[in-house]
Amino acid sequence: MALIVHKYGGTSMGSTERIRNVAKRVAKWHAAGHQVVVVPSAMSGETNRLLGLALEITATPDGRELDVIAATGEQASSGLLALALQAEGINARSYAGWQVPVQTDSAHTKARITAIDDKRILAELDAGRVVIVTGFQGVDPGGNITTLGRGGSDTSAVAIAAAIKADECLIYTDVDGVYTTDPRVVPTARRMNVISFEEMLEMASLGSKVLQIRSVEFAGKYRVPLRVLSSLTPPDMPLEQEMRSGTLITFEEDAQMEAAVVSGIAFTRDEAKIMLLGVPDKPGVAYAILGKVADANIDIDMIVQNQSVDGTTDFSFTVHRNDFQKVVQIMQTDIVPAVGARQMIPDENVAKVSIVGIGMRSHAGIASLMFKTLADENINIQMISTSEIKTSVLIQDKYLELAVRALHKAFDLETKPEAE
Ligand code: ASP
Ligand code: MG
Repeated sequence: MALIVHKYGGTSMGSTERIRNVAKRVAKWHAAGHQVVVVPSAMSGETNRLLGLALEITATPDGRELDVIAATGEQASSGLLALALQAEGINARSYAGWQVPVQTDSAHTKARITAIDDKRILAELDAGRVVIVTGFQGVDPGGNITTLGRGGSDTSAVAIAAAIKADECLIYTDVDGVYTTDPRVVPTARRMNVISFEEMLEMASLGSKVLQIRSVEFAGKYRVPLRVLSSLTPPDMPLEQEMRSGTLITFEEDAQMEAAVVSGIAFTRDEAKIMLLGVPDKPGVAYAILGKVADANIDIDMIVQNQSVDGTTDFSFTVHRNDFQKVVQIMQTDIVPAVGARQMIPDENVAKVSIVGIGMRSHAGIASLMFKTLADENINIQMISTSEIKTSVLIQDKYLELAVRALHKAFDLETKPEAE
């Protein structure tokens, strides 16, 4: 018997028929003797609908009231699921975040979980019940309802799994796992059986939008094995088979099973580059340029600067495309004249491609295979950044798909045999 948390996304909860299927699946786990806590999202489209209603009333809604409104989506789907489980003959009860309670800070619409009381959940499980806890929401120290930010049910599920020390947290979703790259770009992309938390963080933050990043951070920190799997398989699929399906996101020791040097190719079109030419090369320049950007709460991703021989250098960095106009403005008004740069060249037509793998720690020559592959395709590299388990390059965005396909092939990602 295991203690398991199931999380179902909006698509999986998208209609009463689908909710019945979720109930059938949960009933199967329960019948096999497992203790199950279920964390559902709102029905698909519901959170958007609710937030849209708020915007019909006012263009500047109060965060506290937005949370009161948005949290109802999860409350409705939780109650519906409890009814569906009861119809399957299962003793099930749903709880809103404040009833558990799932304690958060007071940052409305993007609250962070601070503590979860496990007593009520564990008592209900011991009484033989399936416990449903609303995703996405909690309660702040003042007793106000909070929500965790869009996609936050993943984090709810992982945090609850950590709190009750669950054996595994299963994230049921509309894809069947985590892929070596986006299958829409590379049709031969392969589902991974297992990936480490660290690799998943790199893959998630670089655009494999399967899981909310924060949930993966949480899972790694509290050592909760996560599994991403499909909710669209028949609910009566044999349990043994279901338990091994999807992608397990786990500790490095276990993830090394597949022993690939590079596990996946991540990419993002969300970058924009700013080049400052002819910047005086002296102490304090990097701070003079980037300090103001940081003060404006804008994250900087890649940075390139060379030491000069003639007293001036070029300084380039990238930001998220959403922040691009703002940064260009800061540069124009505050930075370029102040530091005495000769020219600024903003460029939105860039994309970032990364190879990710824990095996890179112990293998040399991986980055050079990446560079050779891009050279063979005649793709110019504008910037490079590396970490222990990742090498990223910035390229012109029109070459993105070509680069991803070539790298996927060069690192043999489609042909790797399934390790099972
Ligand atoms: N219902 C919320 C959203 O749509 C939370 C979630 O689905 O994870 O963002
Ligand atoms: Mg989601």
